[in-house]
Amino acid sequence: MKHVVMLVEDEEALALLLKYNLEKEGYDVIWEARGNKALAEVEKARPSVVILDWMLPEISGVEICKLIRSKPDIKTTPIIMLTAKGEEEDKIKGLSAGADDYVTKPFSIPELMARVKTQLRRAPEPQDEKEFVFEDIRMDLGTKKVYRGENYIHLGPTEFRLLRMLMETPGKVYSREFLLKNVWGDNIYVESRTVDVHIRRLRKSLNQFGPDYIRTVRATGYSIDRGDGSETEE
Ligand code: CA
Repeated sequence: MKHVVMLVEDEEALALLLKYNLEKEGYDVIWEARGNKALAEVEKARPSVVILDWMLPEISGVEICKLIRSKPDIKTTPIIMLTAKGEEEDKIKGLSAGADDYVTKPFSIPELMARVKTQLRRAPEPQDEKEFVFEDIRMDLGTKKVYRGENYIHLGPTEFRLLRMLMETPGKVYSREFLLKNVWGDNIYVESRTVDVHIRRLRKSLNQFGPDYIRTVRATGYSIDRGDGSETEE
């Protein structure tokens, strides 16, 4: 699988030049010229790295960067900010918005390629599979649909993200705090009992068509595994 690099840049000549060079390096490139479409594209395509221009019509790169960082599903995506601004103050602003790296225009192509490579070293390898499977539960990450055997299971967005987290590593026990941080995000205040409420909903949906594979580990958190039924919800 190739790494996907998303390029958010409204200057066509520069975008085409970068696209050409990134493809030459062996990446799949998605180019988005409109900043207001960028967030949805990142959520859909899950790129390994985002190259984000600061100055975009409608919404600035800094704003997009903050939005990406506020979305639990995509918040860890490496972001390289491109900018014509060279002031130290702007650099600090860019980095504090959550950019991982910052490149000032004009830059050399080899320099940017090296920066991309550095960020990709931090990125997880692209997954061949676009789905998670545990026993008879199948989660299609592309269509965001969940099935149990042949049955389609409708889940709310929070339950979907919860299940996605649990299914990433079956058997691993996730604490309520971890789930809050990674499913709800840092910026939202929610009580840890909220996790229990959503787990209950998730169980109800899943268990219509099979045994309960969500294990409650007393005073700790939750995992998905076959278990032996000895640990149950309070
Ligand atoms: Ca621009």
